[in-house]
Amino acid sequence: MSDSLLVDTIGELVTNGPGTRPLGILRDAAVLIEEGRVAWVGSSATAPAADRRLDVGGAAVLPGFVDSHAHLVFAGDRADEFAARMAGQPYTGGGIRTTVRATRAATDDELRATVRRLRGEALRQGTTTMEIKSGYGLTVADEARSLRIAAEFTEDTTYLGAHVVPAEYADRPDDYVGLVCGPMLAAAAPHAKWIDVFCERGAFDVDHARAILACGQAVGLGVRVHANQLGPGPGVQLGVELGAASVDHCTYLSDGDVDALASSLVDSMCHEGPHSTTVATLLPGAEFSTRSPYPHARRLLDAGVTVALATDCNPGSSYTSSMAFCVALAVREMGMTPAEAVWAATAGGARALRRDDIGVLTPGARADLVVLDAPSYLHLAYRPGVPLIRQVIRNGVPQ
Ligand SMILES: [Zn+2]
Repeated sequence: MSDSLLVDTIGELVTNGPGTRPLGILRDAAVLIEEGRVAWVGSSATAPAADRRLDVGGAAVLPGFVDSHAHLVFAGDRADEFAARMAGQPYTGGGIRTTVRATRAATDDELRATVRRLRGEALRQGTTTMEIKSGYGLTVADEARSLRIAAEFTEDTTYLGAHVVPAEYADRPDDYVGLVCGPMLAAAAPHAKWIDVFCERGAFDVDHARAILACGQAVGLGVRVHANQLGPGPGVQLGVELGAASVDHCTYLSDGDVDALASSLVDSMCHEGPHSTTVATLLPGAEFSTRSPYPHARRLLDAGVTVALATDCNPGSSYTSSMAFCVALAVREMGMTPAEAVWAATAGGARALRRDDIGVLTPGARADLVVLDAPSYLHLAYRPGVPLIRQVIRNGVPQ
């Protein structure tokens, strides 16, 4: 049964498409939704008739957030580790193994319940698309089941068998890389769209990371990289070299890293003009939670690099599911304007997942939109910590 919905009397509509720059804003607007898609966007005064009408009373409406980096399949939490960090201990990434132990010991239903809880939490905060990674199993069976469970909640699943070398392989990392590229990849690939590696001192060096990503590419997985989070390193340039959709974290960047990202610029048919094929995804929740310096978004933006924002939701280094919180941090701490941050949290996230059906509100796009309890998207950064998401519509369906 066809059923149309007109979202009407929108005071400020962020389309990320044609319209007043930045953000393709339309005022006194309406959005017609048919069969889960945006069918029409324009002025309220000329809106077509629909089966149902949702009057939002002058509120701001924007595309649902696209969170392109999250680790939701895990067990346990690490609140004590957070408290220790806030008391002065540095973050090293070593706590990942704590979560690996708890995850291996959990049942499928326990893992599924955690993903469902966090995915629901994010949805209520306006996140309509969420990438989900494995990476806390680190055995053939545990990585495969992590991805199988993730795939119940998203089509953007990422195989992160190369999150850290598990304790039982600590003395023989080459053997673990062989496992990640061999039987573990074979078991994971049917449930994964992407492959990712934590390329960092203490995790995987550049040769191992390149080998792992190349194996994933060979079986059709897209490439993403955890890069340059804890210090300068080769991860960003490796990602560009391999045509990664995204390099994530980018906290410590050399001029060469920024140049490499900028050199991946391509001309685009879309209205924003050139954009980089490898997106720099910044995860300020991690810097917040590890009390680390924030990445320098302004430097990337000024070089023309496409920037996305994501939560990095995970129990160790960034246990937030709030994209609005990341927007506020990006504006306050990373040199982004509110418009740049909102774009990065919606259309930028879509670019990082190489998707053009989300992150925009233009005809043909998936009808994922968020109604704010505010007259403008500016309030997302202007009123940090306030629950401003009044209503979420996903696939055309009010949630
Ligand atoms: Zn991560």
